[in-house]
Amino acid sequence: MKPPAASSPGAAAPLGGHARIVKAAAAARMRPNLADYAATYRDFGWDKARALLDGLPNGAGLNIAHEAVDRHAAGPRADRTALRWIGRGRERDFTWRDLRAESNRVADALQSLGLRPGARVFVMAGRIPELYLAVLGALKARCVVCPLFSAFGPEPIAMRLEIGEAEVLVTTEALYRRKVEALRPRLPQLRHVVLIGEGGAATAVPGTRDWTAMMAAAGTDFVIPPTDPEDLALLHFTSGTTGRPKGAVHVHEAVVMHAMTGRYALDLHPDDVFWCTADPGWVTGTSYGIIAPLANGVTNLVVEAEFDAQSWYDVLERERVSVWYTAPTAIRMMMKLGTAALAGRDLSALRFMASVGEPLNPEAVLWGVEAFGMPFHDNWWQTETGGIMIANYAAMDVKPGSMGRPLPGVTAAILKRDEDGGVSEVTAPMQEGELALKAGWPSMMRGYLNEEARYRKCFVGNWYMTGDLAMRDEDGYFWFVGRADDVIKSSGHLIGPFEVESALMEHPAVAEAGVIGKPDPMAGEIVKAFVALKPGHEANEAMRRELLGHARKRLGSAVAPKEIDFRANLPKTRSGKIMRRLLKARELGLPEGDISTLESDER
Ligand code: AMP
Repeated sequence: MKPPAASSPGAAAPLGGHARIVKAAAAARMRPNLADYAATYRDFGWDKARALLDGLPNGAGLNIAHEAVDRHAAGPRADRTALRWIGRGRERDFTWRDLRAESNRVADALQSLGLRPGARVFVMAGRIPELYLAVLGALKARCVVCPLFSAFGPEPIAMRLEIGEAEVLVTTEALYRRKVEALRPRLPQLRHVVLIGEGGAATAVPGTRDWTAMMAAAGTDFVIPPTDPEDLALLHFTSGTTGRPKGAVHVHEAVVMHAMTGRYALDLHPDDVFWCTADPGWVTGTSYGIIAPLANGVTNLVVEAEFDAQSWYDVLERERVSVWYTAPTAIRMMMKLGTAALAGRDLSALRFMASVGEPLNPEAVLWGVEAFGMPFHDNWWQTETGGIMIANYAAMDVKPGSMGRPLPGVTAAILKRDEDGGVSEVTAPMQEGELALKAGWPSMMRGYLNEEARYRKCFVGNWYMTGDLAMRDEDGYFWFVGRADDVIKSSGHLIGPFEVESALMEHPAVAEAGVIGKPDPMAGEIVKAFVALKPGHEANEAMRRELLGHARKRLGSAVAPKEIDFRANLPKTRSGKIMRRLLKARELGLPEGDISTLESDER
């Protein structure tokens, strides 16, 4: 490949105890938006970030879709490409003017269904244009949008539709038939299902409406009603160690963070072609796969196909992608192929690369330099934070393996929980503790839907406790250590062990199930289950296959266990809770730690 012209960073050199990729200001191809981290951090105020936005005309509030679409459609960018979709064998471009008209149709169609503001509109599809239009249109109509991962199986889908009190589901005809139709009786509150047909109108499925017909009948002149910045806008499900999935709610004010982090952490400039590889079924694919680039007036590239290194390189080259936001599992898969796969390619448009979602190993950061002439910039955030909180920036030295430093306006700390329920700050460098954020940034979740107690549990005083263990070094860089709880990160997808255990327990042969994340060189972790069978059932290969198949059918392949081991009994506390920590320690051959609460322990 041709190396990108001038952004080549210096070599990694040990400094301050950690290797460092030094960023020489003179080498930057474009002046980074965040040119002086220390000064910007010091002088920052949220009013400055709000000033990047427009607000609804006549002081009517703040609406994400206005910032992402209508304000650009009314300005000099109206006829530039806002969304470029690369489908399987097809392409479609939308200018901002097109996006305004098409999202207006969706808003008009939703309004004609008689929805109240705040009604929950779920969207579930692959990365197809209609999904993006549905999200933007629903935001215009002041509905609360919940994107659902289309690779979920029927059980996670039904549970989220139930908990989220979905009134509308926009999905494809194929997904509906495969995953939702049979569960419809469980979902009485789901009043409207809108089906996107394969290349045209959906066939008449009882109890559904056809997207194409609805859009044809809808008008393109929708005016966004007054929207309070605190009006609910987005609902994203996430998982905890126990219990049902939690619906984190975000408000229209979150767009302040989306726009600001797009500028500072992803260094978006007006002529960029931006590609976020995440699926909108997960928070990254919404905050950065839809809102942040559009709010910054940047061309947003959407690629329908799943990961394949060669076709991704084709996209980078052909589409002249300048800013690329991807994930560690994909980077590791590309590394495996080696740099030879990049030979002869012209990636000279590529200027900045970032990664999120799971730990990015230092080798992967450095491989970026070898393969693309620049490091992958790791950044950190969560469903609950709504936007990037900690990042490596274009103009700041990168320490491979570190998540970087907090965004301007974000106060991050390493805390230890005290015995009296309070917290104290760990100030010594490179000492482990829980990563915490001072409450108050615009995209912070406003609650877990109908789960006040679980929401409160996230806070100690004014600190939001992230559930991640981390360290901070002497230069203020944060280093990820691991999760403080049992949730699993597999290929960047957060999976709650309880949801997997519950699905296994539904099988008539299963007496007990315990689920852990088992380290995996490619996926970060894979889901592994330990199962004790009921008397009369034999633990053999046929049973293993039967349970793997059962779980895959209920949960979908992204969530289902990849491995199942049988045990006569699972280790439990005296109160009957399965000790996943112990299952994991034994699986990995690690010390068992404190087992004073262990009750039964037959392996
Ligand atoms: P989610 O809410 O699904 O986005 O998952 C958030 C979790 O992913 C965090 O709490 C971390 O455990 C993990 N995570 C996200 N970004 C990173 C990163 N850059 N390094 C390590 N872990 C990360």
